[in-house]
Amino acid sequence: QAKNDPGDPICRYRSALSEDLEVRSQVRKDLRAGIIAGELRLLYQPKVDLRSGRVVGMEALVRWNHPRHGLIPPARFIPVAETSGLIIPLGEWVLEECCRQLRLWRDDGMSDLKGSVNMSPVQVFSQDVAALVAEALHTTGLPAEALEIEITEGVFVHDEQRARRRLEGLRALGVGLAIDDFGTGYSALAYLKRLPATSLKIDQSFIREVTDQPEQARLCRAIIGVGHDFGLTVVAEGIETAEHLAFLRAEGCDFGQGYYFAKPLEAQDFAKVLRDQPWLTGDAAQ
Ligand code: C2E
Ligand code: MG
Ligand code: MG
Ligand code: MG
Repeated sequence: QAKNDPGDPICRYRSALSEDLEVRSQVRKDLRAGIIAGELRLLYQPKVDLRSGRVVGMEALVRWNHPRHGLIPPARFIPVAETSGLIIPLGEWVLEECCRQLRLWRDDGMSDLKGSVNMSPVQVFSQDVAALVAEALHTTGLPAEALEIEITEGVFVHDEQRARRRLEGLRALGVGLAIDDFGTGYSALAYLKRLPATSLKIDQSFIREVTDQPEQARLCRAIIGVGHDFGLTVVAEGIETAEHLAFLRAEGCDFGQGYYFAKPLEAQDFAKVLRDQPWLTGDAAQ
């Protein structure tokens, strides 16, 4: 009897846990079928050169268009994909789809457009990611310098040697390598000198309060300085207001993304932004 007492904390915990496991196993089953059925989609968030206001690139962000639940954000299924091995086919699809779309836009006149793809640490550990990227570039005819791979600091936690070798393999192809969500991981600075990164993305949590908390502004300024000292380009994510933008411009941050410019867009809407270049500053607009 006591086993099924909903007031009993252990019982509550057990049922919460089993529910969670049930949900996860359902998600896993649906996702496996969904990948095969072509339910994954990419959205593209503009990346803007903060000095000129020009759209110079985009970040590809995956969505799952579930037949019953609609468009599902990655936070809801990437973790399941990572623990079930589905991140491998998912990651391959994202990579190739982004390269394919980028090639089309470059052929269509935006010849120096760049694209960034997020890669899970799980992929870096379980796959020869350099071979994977080389193949995607080859199949789509995209030059390596058009592509950047984004990886979070978490990739270095388990086996830094191995992660470094894999990432050096990527760099050797000529693709860019960005450290994503910079500043939120376990040790922000020590590995900067040991990694073949080409850019650093300041996490949006730093940007959010940059204009009303002096300490956040100091942190942000310091990150931009450290990034530049290490020869990296610095990208701010999560720019939401004109004040955020003005601050980052004044501090010499190179590139930015955020809702102030645009949310992640459908391909045809991103193409329109590329044509219209709505954020060109006075100088660059002339
Ligand atoms: P991320 O790579 O750091 O991507 C930035 C996230 O911030 C995106 O959420 C984006 O929509 C959101 N964002 C952009 N501008 C703003 C803003 O101004 N304000 C706020 N509040 N949010 C903004 P999204 O698309 O839900 O992706 C979440 C995370 O899921 C990504 O974080 C990335 O870690 C992961 N992810 C997305 N696509 C992929 C993928 O194809 N493969 C892998 N492995 N992970 C992915
Ligand atoms: Mg990213
Ligand atoms: Mg990020
Ligand atoms: Mg993030």
